[in-house]
Amino acid sequence: MVRSLAQWTKTLSFPSRLSPNRNSKDCSTLASPVPPPTPPRNKTHNNCATSRSSSSTVSSSHSSSANSNSSPTPGSNNNNNNMPITELEQIIYPGPDPKQAIMGSLVFCIHHKQGCKWSDELRKLKGHLNACKHDATQCPNKCGAQIPRVMMTDHLQYTCTMRRTRCEFCQSEFSGAGLEEHNGSCGQEPVYCEAKCGQRILRGRMSLHKSKDCAKRLRRCAHCQREFSADTLPLHAAQCPRAPLACPQRCDAGPIARAELEAHLRDECTSLAVSCSFKEAGCRFKGPRQMLDAHLESSAAAHLSLMVALSSRQGQQIQMLKSAVSKLSINYTGTLLWKITDWSAKMSEARGKDGLELISPPFYTSQYGYKLQASMFLNGNGPGENTHVSVYIKVLPGEYDALLKWPFSHSITFTLFEQGAQSGQGGVAESFVPDPTWENFQRPSNEPDQLGFGFPRFISHELLHSRPFIKADTVFLRVKVDPSKIVAV
Ligand SMILES: [Zn+2]
Ligand SMILES: [Zn+2]
Ligand SMILES: [Zn+2]
Ligand SMILES: [Zn+2]
Ligand SMILES: [Zn+2]
Ligand SMILES: [Zn+2]
Ligand SMILES: [Zn+2]
Repeated sequence: MVRSLAQWTKTLSFPSRLSPNRNSKDCSTLASPVPPPTPPRNKTHNNCATSRSSSSTVSSSHSSSANSNSSPTPGSNNNNNNMPITELEQIIYPGPDPKQAIMGSLVFCIHHKQGCKWSDELRKLKGHLNACKHDATQCPNKCGAQIPRVMMTDHLQYTCTMRRTRCEFCQSEFSGAGLEEHNGSCGQEPVYCEAKCGQRILRGRMSLHKSKDCAKRLRRCAHCQREFSADTLPLHAAQCPRAPLACPQRCDAGPIARAELEAHLRDECTSLAVSCSFKEAGCRFKGPRQMLDAHLESSAAAHLSLMVALSSRQGQQIQMLKSAVSKLSINYTGTLLWKITDWSAKMSEARGKDGLELISPPFYTSQYGYKLQASMFLNGNGPGENTHVSVYIKVLPGEYDALLKWPFSHSITFTLFEQGAQSGQGGVAESFVPDPTWENFQRPSNEPDQLGFGFPRFISHELLHSRPFIKADTVFLRVKVDPSKIVAV
């Protein structure tokens, strides 16, 4: 029959024998042949356990009994009386040789639950425990740990704080505890740069790297004093507005900040060739700025004559432009509607100034026809002087005169409109057909002072004011040429 150790300990309570502490004495001392004082009848095995926890007490009581066999000491008095040991054993272990029976019982190893399959007589348990791979023993490195034998190799290799080991980076030797302390501070361990430049650096060289090589270390631009990471500084240097540059014209101004170079070249640089300010007038001088003042001083007369020539060229251009503009705006319809504004002012001027003639814009009788111009004496002329308004027509030298028939023979009608009257109604009209013998209608020479032909007494001042010819100080005179009414005389 195999009884579990737990059962035995419950019944017999042999803690020191069954515990791994194999230093304590076992119960076999009880079987000593020395007769002890007789124990009390009601003595239990628990007393045995008690005496076991302090075995010296038991053995001393045994020896004292053996030596003197006299009256019991006060201490031994409690343990036993005068009962002989055989009798006591009879009480504790009923049956024949009970100790032998117990020691011969089959038990499991105390590490049965951890997986030890050992099972044998109880007396062999101690021997087994000395070899059981699940039983804990002192670490041979004296780290203080109690380690089951089965895990000892692992402990010695990896976890023992007293094991000898090497740092994989610096190859220094450490105890296990020392290596743990060393980890994270080994100077030979490559670690990523803290500034995130992407490099792996030996920890011991990190501060040197960060101050000397790291692409992300901050560096100050020597010119503008702003800070940049080392890898972007060259880019900045190529643009830094405070970086000194030599003048591209090689003047002797010395280094100039990039931001100020443009202004230097524009306003200050003495080497840059500048043009004379009379360049537009034709002066071809070009030279360093410092020579310009001298040039201006010495060339005043030349500059003046250049300016005169320029002004005359411009005058001609203005004339050409004027004639181009007037050509564009000239009337080729054969009918001129002449609007005369500021009538009263012009009238008073005419009264004060003898012979003041108002002239109309020139117009053509057709696109390639005769060029005509009307004129008006507000205060009259000839027989109408001071009483009438006189109107005339003049033939001007035109572009196509060479191709036209001469003398001019189209009928001309002058109409002075009444304003506000129903359309086409009202007004004063006079017409004539030129007499081919009249000087005025021969082909005009280029002399501008051709005389006109018309009506000195076109409308009396009296009539002019009695009907609405003048409104808003404005008068409308129509001059109409009718080529169909050619009258041969
Ligand atoms: Zn075992
Ligand atoms: Zn250890
Ligand atoms: Zn190391
Ligand atoms: Zn770095
Ligand atoms: Zn800078
Ligand atoms: Zn310069
Ligand atoms: Zn000049």
